[in-house]
Amino acid sequence: MPKAILHDKVGGVTALPAETGQSLVDLLRLAGVPLNSVMTRLNGELVSEDSVLLGADDVVEVFQVRHYDMGVTRAPSQRKYAAVKPVYTKSVLFDDKGDLEVRSEQFDRDTFPQFVETVFVESVTSGQTIRDGDRIVLGLSGGRDSIALLKLLERTRDRLPDFSTIALTVTGLPDWEESATFQAAVDACRRLDIEHVISTAEDVQEVFGLKVPFVEAMTRVVASDRASSTMVIGHQVLRRMIEITAVRRGVTDVAWGFNADDLLASLVTWWMSGFRMGSLPVRQLGDFRYTFPLYRITKKELTLYLELTAPEWNRQGAPGRFTTGPDERSMSYAIADHLLGLWPGADYYAFNAFANMQRYMEPIASELCDICGGAFIPQAGYPGPKNLCDVCDVFSRMELVRARR
Ligand SMILES: [Zn+2]
Repeated sequence: MPKAILHDKVGGVTALPAETGQSLVDLLRLAGVPLNSVMTRLNGELVSEDSVLLGADDVVEVFQVRHYDMGVTRAPSQRKYAAVKPVYTKSVLFDDKGDLEVRSEQFDRDTFPQFVETVFVESVTSGQTIRDGDRIVLGLSGGRDSIALLKLLERTRDRLPDFSTIALTVTGLPDWEESATFQAAVDACRRLDIEHVISTAEDVQEVFGLKVPFVEAMTRVVASDRASSTMVIGHQVLRRMIEITAVRRGVTDVAWGFNADDLLASLVTWWMSGFRMGSLPVRQLGDFRYTFPLYRITKKELTLYLELTAPEWNRQGAPGRFTTGPDERSMSYAIADHLLGLWPGADYYAFNAFANMQRYMEPIASELCDICGGAFIPQAGYPGPKNLCDVCDVFSRMELVRARR
């Protein structure tokens, strides 16, 4: 058997489990030791970790290169409140004057839905995502998150502020019409007595001034070198159609079904791009007040919640060609997921930090798109299009837009 020893920077020496035939990269990963944190000797010789498969008699010595306590992620101090037959454990890292402790609470099938509902009600109230007397247009993609949001509204209504809702679903792309989830949205709206408005592909073609049907325009985008914009376009088309519905009804509040990790992933994207981004969980842009009522609930929690309260709604196919994002989106989600594992409750910290930062930032300036009329945030130092949102820019560069109005 090979031997592996970690010399850490707080004076500790730890044997790491090693197996013959194992790669050194895997050995370190399983031990929670980042490659960037160590220098490695194999049988006394310096090695690049990715070049080694362990032989039966090998001796590996791993030296931590910087002075910090790797134990905070490898073996954090923990307090656990256990349940019998748990289906979920909620963990949050607490910081008491620099001392860290992960506190975890387990939930079983019966207590988990109540937990999610309590988090929802408390976050709606403290985040002011829904206020007394609000009239809200809710974007219903028909996907699981929007269905979960409806389910939560249905089950917690008596504990929420008094508000009214109109739901809007945009149809017109094959991927967007999953009959099962679409029907679930229709049924849920009926039970909640929510008016459900449908925007069609013809409406989209009109608003974005397209000279070809929407599905044809999107098919061309997917086949072009701008395919990475497909999801952004889908989101923004939904957003603009919701706004137009809102304007027609004299409503200025727009609620989105984005969850905690959607928003954390967008912070990762923001961190790596520096693009200007509106505040969380409420953002004012142009005439509209956008809110994210699910900002405290993760995708995993929403999925489990639906599985336990309405499993028939939890079926969703693989994404199609119009709803598949680029690699950089996958990267942001993967980093957000890893981050939540390493730093439980990272979303709480990041959202508070982002809210703090909004206070010392210049007020956000938005402009209106010449074609679709939507508000957008011009990016400083970025040679963007004049007077066009990102989506109308793509469509017009591809010559998919009728003569400018
Ligand atoms: Zn536009």
